[in-house]
Amino acid sequence: MPAIPAPSETPLRRITLDLGGCSACEACTSLAPEVFGWDEHTERPRLLQELVPQDLAQEVISYCPQDCIRFDDDQGQDG
Ligand code: SF4
Repeated sequence: MPAIPAPSETPLRRITLDLGGCSACEACTSLAPEVFGWDEHTERPRLLQELVPQDLAQEVISYCPQDCIRFDDDQGQDG
């Protein structure tokens, strides 16, 4: 029997998108098109879902060059 990867082994985390510094590089939409859609009017990404598996969220956060994507529950950090 083939092993089927479990789709949600990691916890879901809520993320936010702050487009203030977004450079429209589209890294987020390329990495996770199920999470980030592309708004053709603003020419910026938009969130399609706020709850994202933690591993995927961590990956898109690390790939965004402008630090637009954050864990919503990461409040209380300096800055
Ligand atoms: S990866 Fe970051 S900078 Fe690039 S389009 Fe997405 S939000 Fe904007």
